[in-house]
Amino acid sequence: MPYTITLIPGDGIGPEITKATTNVIAATGVKVDWDIHVAGLTAIEKYKDPLPQNVLDSISKNKVALKGPLTTPIGTGFRSVNVALRKEFDLYSNLRPAKSFEGVKARYSDVDLVIVRENTEEFYSGIEHYVDSRKSAAETIGIVTRTGSERIIRFALDYAVNHGRKKVTIVHKANILKYTSGLFLEIGRNMAKDYPQIEVNDRIIDNMAMQMVMNPNQFDVIVTTNLFGDILSDLASGLVGGLGVAPGANIGYDTAIFEAVHGSAPDIAGQNIANPSALVLASAMMLRQIGEPGAASRIENAVAIVIKEGKRVTKDLNPGSPATTDEMAQAIIEKL
Ligand code: NAD
Repeated sequence: MPYTITLIPGDGIGPEITKATTNVIAATGVKVDWDIHVAGLTAIEKYKDPLPQNVLDSISKNKVALKGPLTTPIGTGFRSVNVALRKEFDLYSNLRPAKSFEGVKARYSDVDLVIVRENTEEFYSGIEHYVDSRKSAAETIGIVTRTGSERIIRFALDYAVNHGRKKVTIVHKANILKYTSGLFLEIGRNMAKDYPQIEVNDRIIDNMAMQMVMNPNQFDVIVTTNLFGDILSDLASGLVGGLGVAPGANIGYDTAIFEAVHGSAPDIAGQNIANPSALVLASAMMLRQIGEPGAASRIENAVAIVIKEGKRVTKDLNPGSPATTDEMAQAIIEKL
């Protein structure tokens, strides 16, 4: 029986990298009926709505989605569809691994860490307004709840136990944000007592950013609130060679959406030059989640070999003699 999975091709480079990714999955032999729906800018053009009901219905039914990046206008315009999807399906955990690949020119060659970012609360709640019509001030409210903190920290600790990881670092700003970050830290420290096999420590976000750049290998699993997690995961992808190789998963109680960490890259859209690896690696996370660990490992190994050989990789990895998106996907398929 084929799996039925929602596919959102996305904006910008989205359609190019989702096509590459579905081709790679097809080549593993795992059968998928893609339930394709558009969202974001593409859906505005078609339905005048960035998040049409048919997208929500499809994900509600299928419980698993693969999503290309979606453009969010900066400052004005519609709110982020990515954030709306995470809230709609209560995808409270954003799992973002950052792993070095041999062959990628990067500051470090042996990074292997996982960021577990709280995905539904704090400054992404969309509770914000100008205090008056002259925009003399603006206010954003960031709410951190006990329930939200407990479930994400438990997710990180369980992830560490189940994946043979040794350490969990709680990242916060509890020296200044004594209530929101303070609550998160207090819950984390208490919960750590239930996991004596895991070393749990904590870092203030600014120190954390410096330490990750200076010595990323001291970290294993990192758990933090929404905004800090967003920023640290881009930082982590920079440590291992950029956004082109950084996958992500948004996981809730019964639904999960898999995507790349990167955005829609409008500067390179439509040119067949985007690196498909991040979404391909996200699709491996998806296959593992739906019970196809063999296909997932084959994809991860194939991507690693293609990147290591460095001959048929996109411009971000080999500016001198770049392959196209399609050529890199084909190279991955041949290594499966
Ligand atoms: P971006 O990640 O799209 O691009 C940042 C830089 O990385 C650009 O120079 C781009 O060309 C490059 N890049 C990104 N992905 C690449 C790939 N696969 N291969 C090669 N190079 C790649 O970030 P941005 O420019 O800040 O955002 C563009 C849009 O994407 C915005 O509207 C933003 O809101 C949206 N966005 C969406 C998501 C998502 O859908 N989850 C995530 C981040 C940003």
